[in-house]
Amino acid sequence: MIVVMKVGSPEVELSRISQELKQLGLNPEKIVGKHKVVLGLVGDTVDLDPLQIQEISPWIEQVLRVEKPFKRASRQFRHGEPSEVVVSTPSGSVTFGEHHPLVVVAGPCSVENEAMIIETALRVKAAGAQFLRGGAYKPRTSPYAFQGHGESALQLLAAARSASGLGIITEVMDTADVEKIAEVADVLQVGARNMQNFALLKKVGAQDKPVLLKRGMSATIDEWLMAAEYILAAGNSKVILCERGIRTFDRQYARNTLDLSVLPVLRSLTHLPIMIDPSHGTGKSEYVPAMAKAAIAAGTDSLMIEVHPNPTKALSDGPQSLTPDGFDDLMQEMAVIGKAVGRWLEPAVVLA
Ligand code: PEP
Ligand code: MN
Repeated sequence: MIVVMKVGSPEVELSRISQELKQLGLNPEKIVGKHKVVLGLVGDTVDLDPLQIQEISPWIEQVLRVEKPFKRASRQFRHGEPSEVVVSTPSGSVTFGEHHPLVVVAGPCSVENEAMIIETALRVKAAGAQFLRGGAYKPRTSPYAFQGHGESALQLLAAARSASGLGIITEVMDTADVEKIAEVADVLQVGARNMQNFALLKKVGAQDKPVLLKRGMSATIDEWLMAAEYILAAGNSKVILCERGIRTFDRQYARNTLDLSVLPVLRSLTHLPIMIDPSHGTGKSEYVPAMAKAAIAAGTDSLMIEVHPNPTKALSDGPQSLTPDGFDDLMQEMAVIGKAVGRWLEPAVVLA
């Protein structure tokens, strides 16, 4: 349920209303939007009569029920206003959100060695990316495939962070690794295979670093938003949703089906920022540019693109990785589309 306050509602009145709501066994959450202040109510609200709440104060404009199973993640919970996820990086803060410039995350699938991660970081930074991605802990289908270098790769990510000034996004697969990864990462990634690992969702929800939540490969949008709800309900409001392709009937040409329709759909359902990953979404480097540009045209807030200095030698996901030169070219093309739809890339790559 949400309580929409009238413009100019006095602070004392808001505290008084919150107190009364607490006495009804509710836990009001104050959400200050650009235009309105809203009190979000999560808890057992089924038996509550909106009219009874309305009567608490003349400053209450409206009391509305949130119809969806996801509450905190729903757009309605913020009375239609998008949220922003602000991330500190060594080069300053970067904001993910609907009314902000596009944010680009680039880097290899896995951190392989120091030279490759530093080289990739410097190249993607020069091309205009704000974040370096790279897995230290890798979720692989086969137990015999490269599993990532683990803790030692975290040190390499830290080195790449200082060398480039880029923020770091890396995956966490195990609740036991959250603290250690959060020491290095500016954003924690929960991968597609762990989207419904509820213990992990609760754990990343109970710490402060922003979380990038990838869509499970067979997850419905409601399941995905309910997974986000776990993180929000545990106390972390900094969640970014990442579409990375889903399983459909045809896998002959593309690894997954990149579901770009999530862009308008999520916009209507949730206030959370959205990222598109055309690399895992297609599985082939030659398909990545078209889908990256389409994602910008369809309104994405950010992109994740795999880049490797020598894709043919990559220890994981080489076929879908762009070369640094290919990434450079794509950033130039993306700037053109960004300009056309009013979503600027950072000034370094905005075309005159
Ligand atoms: C990745 O980002 O390298 C990865 C494993 O992604 P996903 O969870 O989307 O498969
Ligand atoms: Mn990968």
